[in-house]
Amino acid sequence: MRTLRIALSALALGAVMFAAPAWSQSKGLIGIAMPTKSSARWISDGNSMVEQFKAAGYETDLQYAEDDIPNQLAQVENMITKGVNVLVIAAIDGTTLSNALANAAAANIKVIAYDRLIRDSGDVDYYATFDNFKVGVQQAETLVDGLKERFGDVKPWNVELFGGSPDDNNAFFFYNGAMSVIQPLIDDGSIVIRSGQMGMDKVGTLRWDGAVAQARMDNLLSANYTDARVHGVLSPYDGLSIGIISSLKGVGYGSGDLTMPIVTGQDAEIPSVKAILRGDQYSTIFKDTRELARVTVGMVDALLKGGQPEINDTKTYDNGVKVVPSYLLEPLKVTASNWKEVLVGSGYYKAEEIE
Ligand code: BGC
Repeated sequence: MRTLRIALSALALGAVMFAAPAWSQSKGLIGIAMPTKSSARWISDGNSMVEQFKAAGYETDLQYAEDDIPNQLAQVENMITKGVNVLVIAAIDGTTLSNALANAAAANIKVIAYDRLIRDSGDVDYYATFDNFKVGVQQAETLVDGLKERFGDVKPWNVELFGGSPDDNNAFFFYNGAMSVIQPLIDDGSIVIRSGQMGMDKVGTLRWDGAVAQARMDNLLSANYTDARVHGVLSPYDGLSIGIISSLKGVGYGSGDLTMPIVTGQDAEIPSVKAILRGDQYSTIFKDTRELARVTVGMVDALLKGGQPEINDTKTYDNGVKVVPSYLLEPLKVTASNWKEVLVGSGYYKAEEIE
């Protein structure tokens, strides 16, 4: 009997010892709140983080909110209740999380704003992102390169402007960066905005919705381009570019003598890289989400070890309450002439996914 009991308890102990390492080895639970699965970039962001956090010894709770603000808020609150150690949040609306983050701070949970700045809260500890102003500069630079290349003999160039979602702080950085290149060309008469629609209040696209951009492009064309041609469209995101290009094709651009205008983009999403190879879209901006995940995992690791995360910007990102210490990564321009080197060379895509 005694032998049996010893054997049984040894078995139980073995079970505990067997079960324990998986639990005790975890360095912590990380809550990752992403905005939507409707765009491939956020899926890559989420996958890269889960993979890299796991490799660094962390467990993750990854949630997508399908661009629904109350849904994201509930997900974040749920993560706080679960007792995550750190929250990594790419906000849908950068201004709606203040109460939840106050609860997180009270529970000693650190908060990292991921890609998009969280505004109006003192409880955002760090910000991992790309140089968003530079993204806008690069979008406008490729627009101008394309205009010179395709419409070198035309003056002035007729251009229309699109902005991102006004509840996303990034949208203003992209727009301002782009206008730092475009405004001087408007001032010297090289570019004309025939609709007169300028400024984020007029050109913003709520929730980055491609259908909204398509409808606005339809209106711009019918109101301003029945007796003139549009030569370029500043689009801040591939998902909007798809809508804009459909609208342009709908009235005949890209066929006969109606040359396709120069349309920009962002995120190097596969359908848009294909559109670049077809000549429908001119450019996009590549932001390596694997790198953003790497920076974020590094920040979390440093925080949980009681150290200082690596940052390279302490001035740019004022969220209305504080300047959030940030790490900014470099965006890259992509066109038909360098897509392979940038996107395939970096291992982000395989050539056969595109060609
Ligand atoms: C991101 C962009 C993305 C856009 C729409 C922005 O906050 O920085 O990469 O294109 O959201 O999802």
